Amino acid sequence: MDFSVFNFESSLQEGLDAMGFEKPTPIQEKAIPVIIQNRDLIACAQTGTGKTAAFILPVLNKISKSGSSSLNTLILAPTRELAIQIDQQIQGFAYFLGISSIPVYGGGDGIVWEQQKKALETGAEIVVATPGRLIALLAGGKIDLSSLEHLILDEADRMLDMGFSDDILKIINYLPKNRQTVLFSATMPPKIRQFSMKILQNPEEISIALGKTAEGVTQSFYSVYDGQKEDLVTNILSQKDYEAVIIFASTKEKVKSLHKVLRKKFEVEAFHSDLEQVEREKIMSNFKNKTLKILVGTDIISRGIDVVGIELVINFDTPGDPEDYVHRVGRTARADMEGEAITFVNPKDQPKFRRIEELIGMEINQLELPEGFEKGPGYSREDKRSRNDKPKFQKKKGGSKFKKRGSDFSKKTNPSEKFQPKASQNESKTNDPKPSRPASGKFSNRKNVID
Ligand code: AMP
Repeated sequence: MDFSVFNFESSLQEGLDAMGFEKPTPIQEKAIPVIIQNRDLIACAQTGTGKTAAFILPVLNKISKSGSSSLNTLILAPTRELAIQIDQQIQGFAYFLGISSIPVYGGGDGIVWEQQKKALETGAEIVVATPGRLIALLAGGKIDLSSLEHLILDEADRMLDMGFSDDILKIINYLPKNRQTVLFSATMPPKIRQFSMKILQNPEEISIALGKTAEGVTQSFYSVYDGQKEDLVTNILSQKDYEAVIIFASTKEKVKSLHKVLRKKFEVEAFHSDLEQVEREKIMSNFKNKTLKILVGTDIISRGIDVVGIELVINFDTPGDPEDYVHRVGRTARADMEGEAITFVNPKDQPKFRRIEELIGMEINQLELPEGFEKGPGYSREDKRSRNDKPKFQKKKGGSKFKKRGSDFSKKTNPSEKFQPKASQNESKTNDPKPSRPASGKFSNRKNVID
């Protein structure tokens, strides 16, 4: 199947070609027709599946067909990083359409706030917003949502986890009743179902491999003591000249101390909530264009950050919530690329790791500590669990249970060589976090507030 089945407007198809999108991903195949038919939709898909384009493309096609020039679509996202990223994808696809979008998010300085207000006065067809900032704009009468036709909630589970539920319901009060509502969520806990019943009408439901980590990620773990972790991460990073690595630690204090250790040997930056937005944007931009190759961060980077070509994700600490594991690992092997995810599991975290294996329905390969390391703690899948409790694991195809990190790993094809969407090739040539696009005067249509 290719994108021609959707009969998109030719200018949108041109945008797709320019972005290097050839075939729809499964979530795009399923969601695009539903959105085109104006049905409400609840879709369960994690980052890395192509979910963003799954809602952007049909909406852009509808706006283009209708010729609407007023504010038509509101996209709500949990973090400013995700809002910026969605806005960038819209810019890429809408380049030949003359449709504009405005990202609206909090946390910036007064200048950003003023720019956002000004851009809204100028007008755009699409607003991508974080709920808190949008509420402030609505309260100040700075934005009129009365002509809205589409409301899209991206990463709804994350928004509810962050306590945005009341804000979202308040925002919905400003919207026309007769609208299409689309909700995307990486997970589908009961609270999302209850919430969706409040805001969606007779929705279609689509689910893409809930809880399964992206295909193409080689997952493994080390059973280690905390005192071995820093040496182990140093050892792994020394194996190969990695182009893009993310290391997740559980707290910002740990991120800072690991950063201190690693920066003696590697070019590495720390990413956490104490940074100013400008610093965050600079680090992300350097990471995207590959001038910065290693990033240490908290879960703040596990969602929403779309960097193509991440080779390796290291979980320095086992994530407490199994779904966070899926999100972290989702940073690699995006859109059919290959990648590697390695988790450090200390004795205390073994039960957490077993829950992760249960969620993803698979035994993860254990690696032996490299030569020169003291023996690590034993890892057991059996203890403290009755026979009846045992999950029905699918053994990972071709994976031996104990596999030494060896030459096959270092010989692995660099994913960025294997799959490079055109947009990302362009991206790597510039410091600008926005995807590059063909040079044309049409781009000047855009009212970008983050420039
Ligand atoms: P998402 O799940 O929306 O965060 O998308 C993950 C990555 O896959 C992004 O870099 C997209 O640009 C890319 N992507 C999404 N759909 C396609 C497609 N049909 N073909 C190629 N790349 C895609």
